[in-house]
Amino acid sequence: MDLKGKTVIVTGSSRGIGEAIAEAYAKRGANIVLNARKPIAEEKVAHLESYGVTVKTLLGDVSDFETAKEIVSQAKELFGSVDVLVNNAGITRDKLIMRMDEEDFDATYQVNLKGTFNMIRHALPLMLKQRAGSIINISSVVGETGNTGQANYAASKAGIIGLTKSVAREAATRGITCNAIAPGFIETEMTDVLSEKIQEQMLTQIPLKRFGKAEEVANTAVFLSENSYITGQTISVNGGMYM
Ligand code: NAP
Repeated sequence: MDLKGKTVIVTGSSRGIGEAIAEAYAKRGANIVLNARKPIAEEKVAHLESYGVTVKTLLGDVSDFETAKEIVSQAKELFGSVDVLVNNAGITRDKLIMRMDEEDFDATYQVNLKGTFNMIRHALPLMLKQRAGSIINISSVVGETGNTGQANYAASKAGIIGLTKSVAREAATRGITCNAIAPGFIETEMTDVLSEKIQEQMLTQIPLKRFGKAEEVANTAVFLSENSYITGQTISVNGGMYM
């Protein structure tokens, strides 16, 4: 898909990987819908607009079905189409399974997996009518390998891979692609909170011997949207951590 003038919704784009994804699409000339629960700084919007594109912020919790519907319908109203949907909003609630509360599991599932479903459920009908579209879901290396202390998060991210493959199969006849990206350890606020000891331990498992950058995930999302013959795939951006 040629991204110039297209409409891209990026959930969870107030910071981190989502912010970098929004910028990568803006650089390609796409109009951007930013989303998060808390307000997004005006300077961030202005920065994206400096690429000569239109940027709108639609705040809301993607884990709520009706809110997701509202985000998609407002995006369509503002821009006339929804061409790319990047489901990036995600949270962690790390605990060993023996200490994990029901709420820790439900909250992670609700945002990461249900939120992804909610947005696809509302955006896909528009894409089917257009007979074009690109859906990118942000999974995680942990969804492929599992991880101590992240049973809830890993389950939600593994679920995203199954969801991605199913949507890819259902939407393919209308020229719509659906792919997942499984980042490894990427430098963001989500990973800044991990102790130095854990960060050092992680480095020993990464053949490329460094953490990834949000831009490296963002460029992969753009690559997938621009390639109309890749669908149902999970692309690892993990420095070789899992092969
Ligand atoms: P982050 O810095 O914590 O940013 C998360 C973003 O999601 C924020 O904009 C946050 O804004 C938004 N968000 C959270 N819950 C939301 C909800 N219910 N509805 C709408 N927006 C919501 O995280 P990140 O490190 O950039 O990670 C982005 C994605 O990549 C996540 O799906 C994460 O699981 C995945 N990932 C990250 C890494 C890594 O190493 N960083 C590795 C693998 C996968 P508000 O708080 O205002 O809502």
